[in-house]
Amino acid sequence: MLRLILLGPPGAGKGTQATRIAGRYSIPHISTGDILRANIEDGTELGLQAQEYMEHGDLVPDGLVNEMMAERLASDDTGGGWLLDGFPRTVKQAERLNELLGQLGEPLDAALYFDVPTDELTKRIAGRAEQECRPDDQERAVRRRLEEYFQKTAQLTDFYRDQGLLHDIDAVGSVDEVTERAFAVLQEVSARIQPQ
Ligand code: AMP
Repeated sequence: MLRLILLGPPGAGKGTQATRIAGRYSIPHISTGDILRANIEDGTELGLQAQEYMEHGDLVPDGLVNEMMAERLASDDTGGGWLLDGFPRTVKQAERLNELLGQLGEPLDAALYFDVPTDELTKRIAGRAEQECRPDDQERAVRRRLEEYFQKTAQLTDFYRDQGLLHDIDAVGSVDEVTERAFAVLQEVSARIQPQ
């Protein structure tokens, strides 16, 4: 049982690592980007409100995302832990998450930070835009997403470091190498919280 969040800039490979980690620990992989895209596809009110922000590479307003996550974290499948991918992305969201977890009596076990140098990032994100053709991955939106990350999200590493929850993972290397590093960190985390 683990409760984890993943941090790192767009293009750091968080999504792929999230799938592997969630599979290994049999916990739900909760991706805010995926939930928002599903809402757009289904034409829900939330989808309609979020769509334009996402297309421009802007963050969706905190109120909308916080409400969506409060609902998701209260679902039936979250009792055995979870992995949040793409949330929180602002200090306001992180504060709301702490508050929610306090109410649910479910403390966070670790925040994994996937660390990639900026020039390497720009290369990766451009490559992914070509492959995936996601509307929010157009050239301008890509730059905007990186700006949003550096302005609003990057400071969350300090937020979680101050709480003693942050683990840095070097995210340069093959996907398998990065997974190995993440698993090594998580082995220590789970040994600490569930002593044999
Ligand atoms: P992702 O798939 O995680 O890269 O997210 C795609 C887009 O969804 C982002 O560029 C934002 O527009 C939006 N989004 C996802 N998660 C959040 C969040 N926690 N806060 C605000 N916007 C978000």
